[in-house]
Amino acid sequence: MMRAVLVLACAIALMWGAGASAQSVTFADIPGPAPGPAQSIGTYTNGCFTGGAALPIDGVGYQVIRTSRNRYWGHPALIDFLEDFGQGMAREGLGVALVGDLNQPMGGPISGHASHELGLDADIWLRLDLPRMSVGQRESLSAISVVDTSTYDWRVTDDFGLVQAEMIRLAASDPRVGRIFVHPAIKRAMCEINWPDRSFLRVIRPWFGHDSHFHIRLTCPAGSPECRIQSAVPPGDGCGAELQSWFPDPNRPPAPSTPTTPRQPPPLPAGCQALLNQFR
Ligand SMILES: [Zn+2]
Repeated sequence: MMRAVLVLACAIALMWGAGASAQSVTFADIPGPAPGPAQSIGTYTNGCFTGGAALPIDGVGYQVIRTSRNRYWGHPALIDFLEDFGQGMAREGLGVALVGDLNQPMGGPISGHASHELGLDADIWLRLDLPRMSVGQRESLSAISVVDTSTYDWRVTDDFGLVQAEMIRLAASDPRVGRIFVHPAIKRAMCEINWPDRSFLRVIRPWFGHDSHFHIRLTCPAGSPECRIQSAVPPGDGCGAELQSWFPDPNRPPAPSTPTTPRQPPPLPAGCQALLNQFR
């Protein structure tokens, strides 16, 4: 364990030599996982993890994209889940899933995301039209939005079909999943399908910004006493009034925008700060 810390510290020291300073080192600078037992520490939006594992960049039913970002890390429970999800993709003949950002090797704040910190979040793109590609080819892919917001009645486009719906259903049906975030128009499209069992719809939650990918969030795994679980999703399939409230209403004038003052990020959980301090 100490050896692993030493190796990481040496890697950081090399980076400092290349310009970063000890004081400015952040979770984004840490190239490998923290040693120790697998534990998620903190909350989804303010946390980190030890004992992380890398998702193999090629697996049955999936391929990791944009690997140069080094964001294919997670709690081993997430890696197990994604490998099982890929097996399901292959078994059901849904194509090859494009796996985007998971987490940094030790989690922590990550640019471009409000969460993806605990090792339990993963983005899966909705494109299923691409073959197996070289690592280089996977670096410069274009995301395709599947939602047309040009009218008040937001609708999914022809780029969202049954195969994408089945892919989301596959993930949402796994009991390890706490929430899945999709654009409200995607949730509505899922609600409009006549599924034989609709219970999986409950964990699919509307959230803006998820129109070219969906976001999978696992519940806190066993053995992580410092993992703060999010409140349970409300009962029911979530296809009624709450979903409708996400859509614009032509009869309701848009609320006046109020200026927001940027919030100070909360302090890191003590366990995460202690991890980071080993590299300072
Ligand atoms: Zn995400």
